[in-house]
Amino acid sequence: MPTMSVPIEILSNHPVQTWFGCGGTAARFARPANAEALRACLAIDPNLRILGDGANLLVADGGVQELVVSLNSGDFAQWTVTSTPTGGIIRAGAGVNLPKLILEAGRLGLGGLESLGGIPASVGGAVVMNAGGNFGQTGDTVHAVEGLTRDGQPVSLRRNQIDFTYRHARFAEHKGLIVTHVEFKLRKADPDALRERLKEVMAYKKKTQPLADHSAGCFFKNPTLREDLPGIAVAGSKISAGMLIDKAGCKSMRIGGAAVSPQHANFVIADKGCTAADILALMRQVREKVRAAFNVTLENEVVIWGASL
Ligand SMILES: Cc1cc2nc3c(=O)[nH]c(=O)nc-3n(C[C@H](O)[C@H](O)[C@H](O)COP(=O)(O)OP(=O)(O)OC[C@H]3O[C@@H](n4cnc5c(N)ncnc54)[C@H](O)[C@@H]3O)c2cc1C
Repeated sequence: MPTMSVPIEILSNHPVQTWFGCGGTAARFARPANAEALRACLAIDPNLRILGDGANLLVADGGVQELVVSLNSGDFAQWTVTSTPTGGIIRAGAGVNLPKLILEAGRLGLGGLESLGGIPASVGGAVVMNAGGNFGQTGDTVHAVEGLTRDGQPVSLRRNQIDFTYRHARFAEHKGLIVTHVEFKLRKADPDALRERLKEVMAYKKKTQPLADHSAGCFFKNPTLREDLPGIAVAGSKISAGMLIDKAGCKSMRIGGAAVSPQHANFVIADKGCTAADILALMRQVREKVRAAFNVTLENEVVIWGASL
């Protein structure tokens, strides 16, 4: 059961740091350092929202009313390694920075995470979104997940109880699970070879994506076609949202400070002075143009807080 026994500091009108670099504030914000403090947050607001690294997030200009909780401190920011005959298990708190963990795992000669190079994320955010790309996805190395349900109950799930699909993880019957810790099962590997592989993965990302701009990565999910698109692909194929956006004539489209990236059409980039409203307006226009051109409705990959779509 939720408990109020642990005091928790609640900050008012606190900024929500996202990679877009714009958007509103959290009416209430907390940074619990352990499970007890997180339970105290749940007692205040069971609908609280978990902020990871803010790399897949847009907060509406009007802000967010639910309690926003960051897990980037205390127990949630620690990680440990246990050796196994074939490599090791890293148990990381949800708030651990994924790119840093990838580097550390590589130094220790533990392979598997390097395929996620260049993806900004907290460990929790990467697991919940099943972040990944051409080289692999987060679920590939997940061994177990620990979390709290919205009524404060601890849950431990093995890999085979978690359904990892395209940019999504389903934690058995525990909808809305707050991921607190993750175990990654990694293989023994040569640290130099891992470093080289990580460089290759990151070089590919830099070549194909506007990583220096403010964005949230791919804005829309790659759709699976419901019907044939002559000259493009047959029904049932998963195709690139960026390709459709480009072919619909949206590349470099702009509203206010928000623009479709000329480098990768599925990246919406936020220039100086951009508002969340600019990004939302551009999102609607792009979606409408793609629907008109191809009868395909693009679904958001980016999570939006505080806005009516
Ligand atoms: C430059 C750039 C490049 C990117 N490239 C890629 C890519 O190649 N592949 C890819 O998949 N993504 C990519 N992304 C998107 C982003 O990196 C991923 O979606 C990542 O998993 C987001 O993690 P986060 O910690 O930032 O989550 P946030 O953006 O903070 O949150 C995302 C969602 O996860 C939830 N969440 C976060 N932590 C927890 C938790 N502990 N428990 C429960 N829910 C939680 C949040 O509530 C929210 O709903 C990119 C983003 C940027 C800015």
